[in-house]
Amino acid sequence: MDHFPIFLSTKGQRIVLSGGGDAALAKLRLLMKTQAKISVYATDPAPELVQWADARRITLHTRALRLGDVLCAKLFYAADEDAVEDARTAAIARAEGALVNIVDNLHDSAFITPAIVDRDPVTIAIGTEGAAPVLARAIKADLEERLPATLGSLARIGKGFRKMADALPFGRPRRDFWRDYYFNAGPRVVADGETAVEAALDDLLNDHLSRAARPGHIAFVGGGPGDPELLTLKARRALDEADVVIYDRLISPEILELARREALMIDVGKEGFGPSTSQQTINDLLVEHASGGAQVVRLKSGDATVFGRLDEEIDAVDAHNIGWHIVPGITSASAAVAAIGQSLTKRDRNASVRFLTGHDMKGFADHDWAALARPGEVAAIYMGKKSARFIQGRLIMHGADRNTPVTVIENASRPEQRILETTLDRLPADLMDAEMNGPALTFYGLAPRAAALASTEILQEEMA
Ligand code: SAH
Repeated sequence: MDHFPIFLSTKGQRIVLSGGGDAALAKLRLLMKTQAKISVYATDPAPELVQWADARRITLHTRALRLGDVLCAKLFYAADEDAVEDARTAAIARAEGALVNIVDNLHDSAFITPAIVDRDPVTIAIGTEGAAPVLARAIKADLEERLPATLGSLARIGKGFRKMADALPFGRPRRDFWRDYYFNAGPRVVADGETAVEAALDDLLNDHLSRAARPGHIAFVGGGPGDPELLTLKARRALDEADVVIYDRLISPEILELARREALMIDVGKEGFGPSTSQQTINDLLVEHASGGAQVVRLKSGDATVFGRLDEEIDAVDAHNIGWHIVPGITSASAAVAAIGQSLTKRDRNASVRFLTGHDMKGFADHDWAALARPGEVAAIYMGKKSARFIQGRLIMHGADRNTPVTVIENASRPEQRILETTLDRLPADLMDAEMNGPALTFYGLAPRAAALASTEILQEEMA
């Protein structure tokens, strides 16, 4: 960056310009937006210059610039559109201590005038160091279109309200209030005039004050298997009111979209065996934000109470006397069994169903394999991909029928959902062939109901 952008205070300062043609007019139109004292030197001034002088917006001297004319000026513009004259006046201005800009002469200028988007008091300056004026103009046009003309009014009215907003605690609560004003409450009423905006500011402040007075709290929310339509209404409400959302890897972007726009989003994604945010760090984050008064949503995939290490987090927040509650979610076994058109339990087949994890913190998880190996048993196996061979081995060792149906549902409820229909015997090999990268749930003892699958891809058919 060669040119460093700053905003120069011009109130009551002297700005001098030499020139009386189009270049001078263009610069003066910008400069007259400030409250600077503007002196113009022009031997042959355009009629607009005379009018502006009559209206006392500038002081016009109908002669060439001379030594001493730029004394005490902050800025000088050489706008004679004549290289020789520009060089002469610029030399005087430099000697008299002003910062010099020569119109259309980047090389000899001490500063350049940016493209400006004016929503006073909000001013956006765009510069390309002379590299691409076209680009600057395009960006300006884009911003002009995007920023409502009312932005300036909102900022002006907001400025008058700053003292009142100081009633909110410093930091996040105050920032949230202002964001809410500029992006929600303000734009909604600005067309109705200043009084309406002021009334909206009052209401908004009361709303934020009561929010700030609430003690911090944690909602342990089940985010379901991925399809946003499988969120509960309670989960949606919690997301809508959250100050902070701490979420896992398996939470889909569509669901994160539903969080309050101002919410702080913290990704603590844990990758199966890969790098992860430690449980301790997650506990600390929960305590830190809730202790600071935030409404925290701890968003877990499926149901928070199923293989979610929920109890460790609850113990951590209990130790700090932080209030919490659990919002149940649809566990992936429910979404997966729906995908294959089956029931988790069925009269005369299985009166119970086990939820197992393929591995736990110590490695492959052990279970009552002998019980599971009996005919008719059904188990929903979470995190079961990597441990497929281990599970197969244990079950067969305990007498399970090698032809017991096994179904693996990857990305249940998501657009990328895939179903692998196999048997205990073929499970590890078929899983390897299927190259599943998404989260997958394995049903031991359940085959897809054929009729329910007309619309879904079944890998086994594809491979046969
Ligand atoms: N609390 C979650 C489970 C967390 S453990 C729940 O109730 O579903 C993570 C495991 O859940 C994954 O390894 C996978 O076995 C399963 N899982 C999560 N989302 C899934 C999905 N959309 N489809 C299939 N399995 C899923």
